[in-house]
Amino acid sequence: MSDLSHIDLEKEKRDILNAYRGLLRACKRSRDREDTRMIRKAFNVAVDAHKDMRRKSGEPYIFHPIAVARICAEEIGLGTTSIVCALLHDTVEDTDITLDDINNMFGPKAEQIIDGLTKISGVFDQSTSLQAENFRKMLLTLSDDVRVILIKLADRLHNMRTLGSMRRDKQLKIASETSYLYAPLAHRLGLYSIKSELEDLSLKYKEPDVYAEISEKLKKTQAVRARFVSRFILPLKRALTNEGFRFEIKGRPKSIYSIWNKMRKKGIPFEEVYDLFAIRIILEIPQENEKPLCWRVYSIVTDFYQPNPDRLRDWVSTPKGNGYESLHTTVMSPTGKWVEVQIRSLRMDDIAEKGYAAHWKYKESSENESGLDVWLSKIRDMLENTEESALDFIDDFKMNLFSDEIFIFTPKGDLKTLPAGATTLDFAFEIHTQVGASCIGAKVNHKLVPLSHKLKSGDQVEIITSSKQKPKADWLDFVVTAKAKSKIKSSLKEEKNRVAADGKEILQRKFKNLKVHFTGENVTLLVNHYKLDSATELYYRIAKGNIDLKPIKKLVVKGGQLKAKATPSTRKQSTLEQMVTNARGKSDQLVIGDDMEKIDYTLSKCCNPIPGDDVFGFVTVQDGIKIHRENCPNATALMSNYAYRIVKARWASQELIEFQTGLRFTGIDDVGLVNKITGIISTQNNVNMRSISFETNDGVFEGNVIVFVHDTDHLDHLIQNLTDIDGVLKVERIANDDV
Ligand code: MN
Repeated sequence: MSDLSHIDLEKEKRDILNAYRGLLRACKRSRDREDTRMIRKAFNVAVDAHKDMRRKSGEPYIFHPIAVARICAEEIGLGTTSIVCALLHDTVEDTDITLDDINNMFGPKAEQIIDGLTKISGVFDQSTSLQAENFRKMLLTLSDDVRVILIKLADRLHNMRTLGSMRRDKQLKIASETSYLYAPLAHRLGLYSIKSELEDLSLKYKEPDVYAEISEKLKKTQAVRARFVSRFILPLKRALTNEGFRFEIKGRPKSIYSIWNKMRKKGIPFEEVYDLFAIRIILEIPQENEKPLCWRVYSIVTDFYQPNPDRLRDWVSTPKGNGYESLHTTVMSPTGKWVEVQIRSLRMDDIAEKGYAAHWKYKESSENESGLDVWLSKIRDMLENTEESALDFIDDFKMNLFSDEIFIFTPKGDLKTLPAGATTLDFAFEIHTQVGASCIGAKVNHKLVPLSHKLKSGDQVEIITSSKQKPKADWLDFVVTAKAKSKIKSSLKEEKNRVAADGKEILQRKFKNLKVHFTGENVTLLVNHYKLDSATELYYRIAKGNIDLKPIKKLVVKGGQLKAKATPSTRKQSTLEQMVTNARGKSDQLVIGDDMEKIDYTLSKCCNPIPGDDVFGFVTVQDGIKIHRENCPNATALMSNYAYRIVKARWASQELIEFQTGLRFTGIDDVGLVNKITGIISTQNNVNMRSISFETNDGVFEGNVIVFVHDTDHLDHLIQNLTDIDGVLKVERIANDDV
């Protein structure tokens, strides 16, 4: 026995050394002797610090930091400092090593980065805290050093790659966070390959069946795609070679996640999505000639294939906000299929795949580097407004992430980038806070327009201001940029505080008349009495005349004290905690259908779960526990923002209870079809129906029905029988509300 474990340890040591050598090979490009010395030192420190720790999978912990460092080097293109920090990223948090140790051994820069990483994971890994707030804290550290975020992304990527050994509920939580926060962040930083991999991996754990099905189908159709690509690129290859280009040309299949996303959004089957892909032409050309040569290649491509004029995208002349550069066109293939062709230099491709880190490699083009600074300063703008709740912040942030960009010109011809849907007022705030605050209108292409006018790419905008103007609450209804929103909110808040100061004086006088002491206690009592959130709100309403102070008299008791009439409001948080604890019960799990009386739960309307579905409970103060399906469209947001309110749940076995669910049919209209359907439902499957509706349109019928079933097996069986009817094309489950 002891012999065996001895051999295992020897083998482990060899494996660790091999992993370390793999890391060194991955960062060959940027390494001199001093770099190698630092990396080896960090490796030795990390090996020693983690020597007694193992991961959930059972392997020695040190494999994780080595893998994270390798991702930093190989997939993000980071340099020695980052590799050293990645190797050490979990030491301060999980081992005896201190920040001082890091400073002594590796210098102040490494200390600062590891401090940032430790702080992030300190707040991030508590399942009880609000993820959105943590995300905001994480972004705050961006202002110190963006490498903290890049290493954190590498850390998350490796954790996602090794998620298989975690518990199912942990998998769901981590996968949800990943698709909600990390993948968009990677996207914003321009890390396209990491973003796609994070999305694919989170889908793999959130929707294992969907993931398996799509990847299986992709495998089966690969040969057909490859044939199409090689036929399509054959004439291009010849022409490019004739003109003396050195290049690589390849077909890029879509990621599993993006295929799924498209199927879901457009409601179309795999077969209509799978063959959508891009052809990418990567040119080895000198940087100073990139633009004319990319256009030369565009000209060659369109000599062979007809381009769609609406689908030309020139991110060579004007790179995207996240640094992306490429020339895109969509052309018609001989078989009549649209194919996107992406033309770019090797440098552009590097940046597109690895993001900003790759920019640092191409330092000589310092103009493009400012893109990162612009992005960082935008993030800082958003973070400055600390009053905004974390969730609002995330929404604004995501809004700014996902929307397309438009380009707007000042009268002097300066270019500003804004999210699509931005208004003249957003543009005004983009120029300067004061310009936004005093904006009364604008001239767009020399025509007068209101503040809420939506801008289009290429507009030239001149802002008109007035010293009498003040920010208004209804401005918030139409601005879209986080910057404009936060500036308007803080200005409104200042205004409110000013008005509230008057209200405070009025109340002080009133108290004096009634001989009531002006104490915090008495003010709080009034705040509760009027069911308000804060003293400021109370003062503000008093100043505006919205509160009648006369009834206060009745609250006065002796000694300048007020007395509450009603009981003060209960503390929400503790109620919630209590409910979560009750719901979890002894088994740390909610069993649905068992203690029906004792626990107050409802089946949520958005996804309409029935027994057999994978579900979880979400605790709410007002409506008790809501049961959602794990693949509910709202689940991701709930799990990543309110992890502490999620309760594991399973169905108790039950035969007697029936649950209702909706079904939608589509098919070819045929005499007697409705009879066949209702016959199958009620007689063959012995299922009760509640409502049924059918509609025919040009020979195509669509029908909805609500049925009562016991569980998913029962339902699947019914759907199968219905699909077998001649003329029925599709039967799908829908929420009750859609019927
Ligand atoms: Mn880690």
